[in-house]
Formats: sequence, structure tokens, C-alpha cells
Amino acid sequence: MSKKIESDILIIGAGPVGLFTVFEAGLLGLKCQIIDNLDKVGGQCAELYPDKPIFDIPGVPSQTAEEHIDTSEQNEFIATNVFIAAGGGSFEPRRPPNIIDPDRFINKGVAYSVKDKNYYKNKNLVIFGGGDSALDWSVELSDLANSITLVHRRDAFRGAQNTESQMRELVETGNIELKTPYVIEELLGTDQISGVSIKNFETKEIESLDCDEILFLFGLNKKLGPLENWNLKLNGKKISVDTEKYQTSIEGIYAVGDINDYPGKLDLILCGFHETTLAVQDAYRRCFPGERVPFGYTTSNTKLHKKLGVKVD
Ligand SMILES: Cc1cc2nc3c(=O)[nH]c(=O)nc-3n(C[C@H](O)[C@H](O)[C@H](O)COP(=O)(O)OP(=O)(O)OC[C@H]3O[C@@H](n4cnc5c(N)ncnc54)[C@H](O)[C@@H]3O)c2cc1C
Repeated sequence: MSKKIESDILIIGAGPVGLFTVFEAGLLGLKCQIIDNLDKVGGQCAELYPDKPIFDIPGVPSQTAEEHIDTSEQNEFIATNVFIAAGGGSFEPRRPPNIIDPDRFINKGVAYSVKDKNYYKNKNLVIFGGGDSALDWSVELSDLANSITLVHRRDAFRGAQNTESQMRELVETGNIELKTPYVIEELLGTDQISGVSIKNFETKEIESLDCDEILFLFGLNKKLGPLENWNLKLNGKKISVDTEKYQTSIEGIYAVGDINDYPGKLDLILCGFHETTLAVQDAYRRCFPGERVPFGYTTSNTKLHKKLGVKVD
């Protein structure tokens, strides 16, 4: 059933800048809702480089963002301000090449990510891909699934060396079947996937694999998506903003972080943090016209310290 959710700020995108917006808005007592089309928070940091150290964020060890995340398609959000913190756009899974409408089998044996690993218990699973996700899930699900076949177009992988070694050990022990160099030829089944045919890249021979489930883990593309139709002033694939309050061409809609564009823009996390700090101040003014925007340092915010459980002498 559709739910109506009211807030001061609706944030689109739970990357570092969207999450920091929640923190900044919280300092001013503004209520936020944050949505993301991914099933996890963290944006590019979580999706593209989870293990990479970042050295150019001023260190605040106890900084947290209190977020409420609800990605249900059914919800309707009513907000005084909208913050677009959508980074380079929404991450969309790369579809298998040369297959017409693979999405017709979504929830019928085809998936682009693992939502719940227990779903694959005792299933015969074919995984396509040659990066970290394909390797990670082949190893992780090898205990759970009835059978796992990993298909890749060459016998070299782009994932972590350690996980590749684990995968190859599981191939040795018969827990994973490895098919290289193969590419997908056709999805088999009418209402539900019953198998997949694959073609040997070198010999061009085609063979069929029976299976219950197929996971395509070919990585992600970034798209601006529906935001393109919001009639906002754009510069290429980015949303133009002013540099006083990072507002777009529509009042009450702000764009912060990698998604925005202005002279001198740099795609860095701390630039996004600066932008959203100023934008939140303006959002406050729109919520409480005529009121002074409260300003204070987090070091002297005892309410915040209590919430975070930190002691500042
Ligand atoms: C390899 C690499 C290394 C980097 N190293 C550094 C570094 O060392 N230091 C640094 O400062 N920066 C670094 N960056 C850049 C940094 O990651 C970005 O500046 C930062 O992630 C931008 O944050 P963001 O919140 O604006 O966007 P993102 O991190 O891109 O997050 C945007 C979020 O919005 C969601 N979203 C998009 N569209 C929609 C939609 N329509 N509906 C719902 N949700 C949507 C996405 O799913 C995503 O979760 C690096 C980038 C890369 C790729």
C-alpha cells in the first residue's frame, strides 16, 4: 500500500554527500528522508572502491549520519526541499550482450545482484562475470547452492587475487565448475529459466547448461535516469547550480556532490560536504522563513555528543 512520508528535506542518493546532508540537517533539527536505488548506502565509495583508503577527508572519527532509508517504490514523499545527491547518476547493472530483453526473466531465474544469499540454497546456479562480484559470490555461494558454474569470456579475472585463488581451489575440489572462454548465447525457458546456452569463444561450439538461477555480474553503468525529465538546467549530464546555496534552476531543489556543475567544480567528497552544508542552511530558511539559522560548532554541541556517546572535555 502506498505511504505518504513528510519531511523537511528529501534526499535523492545515499552516497557520502547524501549521508552528510542528513548529518548537517540533523544539526539544524531538520527532518530528512533519504532514498537510493541501490540496496546499500555509500554511493561510489561502497560500490566502486570499498577497500581503497581515502586520505583527503578531514578526520572526524565519531562523525555519524542518522539515516532512515526506505527504498520502497510505493512511497510518496512530501518535502519542503529536495536535495539531489545522485553522484554520477543511478548505478544500473550491465545487461548481458546480444540477449534481447533479459529482464523478462527477472524474478524468474535472472538477477543482477544477490539480495538474499539464502535464496540460492540448493539451487543450480550459473554466474556470469569476471570481476570481484562474480568471484566473491561464486566462493560465498559455493557452500549453499547445489551447483555453481562460473562462466567468463577469458581465463583471467579482474578481481582480488586472493578470491580468485579461493575460487580456483573450489574448482579443484569440484565445488565450482569453471567455464572459460565462454560467452552467453541464449537464455532457455519460457515462463521460468530452465537453462542457458553458452558459446566457446575459440571453438565457437555451443553447449547448454541446465540451471534454476542465473546471476549476471557484469558491473554497473551510471545513468541520470528520470532526473533528466525534471526540467532542471543541465550542463551535459550534470545539474547546474549557483555557488551561494547550490540551488538548481528550480527553487527548493538543490543539487550537491558529483551530480552538480558550476565554474571550478571538482568531483571530490569534501567539495560535496561544503556544498551541502551551505545548501542545508538555505533549506532551513525555506522551512522557517524569517528565523535566524542556528549556527554552532559540533565541538560545543552537547546534545550531539550525548547522542553519539562521546565525552568532550
Ligand atoms: C576509484 C575512485 C576513487 C576516488 N577517490 C577519491 C578520494 O580519494 N577522495 C575523494 O574526495 N573523492 C574520491 N573519489 C570521488 C568520490 O567518490 C566522489 O566525489 C563521491 O563519491 C561523490 O559523492 P556523491 O554522494 O555526490 O555521489 P555518489 O557517491 O556517486 O553517490 C550517489 C548515490 O546516489 C544514488 N542515485 C543516483 N541516482 C539516483 C536516483 N535517480 N534515485 C535514487 N538514487 C540515486 C546512487 O545509487 C548512489 O548511491 C573517487 C572516485 C572513484 C571512482
